[in-house]
Amino acid sequence: MSPCTDRVVGKILAGWRYDISGLAPEMRGDYESHLATCEHCRSRQRLHRTIDIGLIVLASVSAFVFLLAFGVIRTVGPRHELAFELAAVGGFLLSIFIFVLVALATPAPMVVARSVHDRLPDGIRERIPEELRVRISGQ
Ligand SMILES: [Zn+2]
Repeated sequence: MSPCTDRVVGKILAGWRYDISGLAPEMRGDYESHLATCEHCRSRQRLHRTIDIGLIVLASVSAFVFLLAFGVIRTVGPRHELAFELAAVGGFLLSIFIFVLVALATPAPMVVARSVHDRLPDGIRERIPEELRVRISGQ
């Protein structure tokens, strides 16, 4: 991979995990232009968002599987049913906790919202309130 074209800006971006969505628009300029020109930082940004979204998907699947396990245990009623049920509920709660943690600590939900927003037909996109549209699209 090619090295970063501006190590100072690259280091700042890495410190923020390549997330500039929380910055005021007038402060974003330098970072946006760096991301536009630096292949290294752009690919790092893509990697970080892929990991964030991957964690959210994994936590969702995990929560669903634990819920399914709980249902199966209830239906089958094996010996030590209570212990298995507690384990399934514990796993479900842990998955939900990880989901919420990743959703709050990373910009992944905004990236997903933006991606969905960009694919909406114009007619539907126009109906989204202006304030929300600006937050999602960042413009
Ligand atoms: Zn860079």
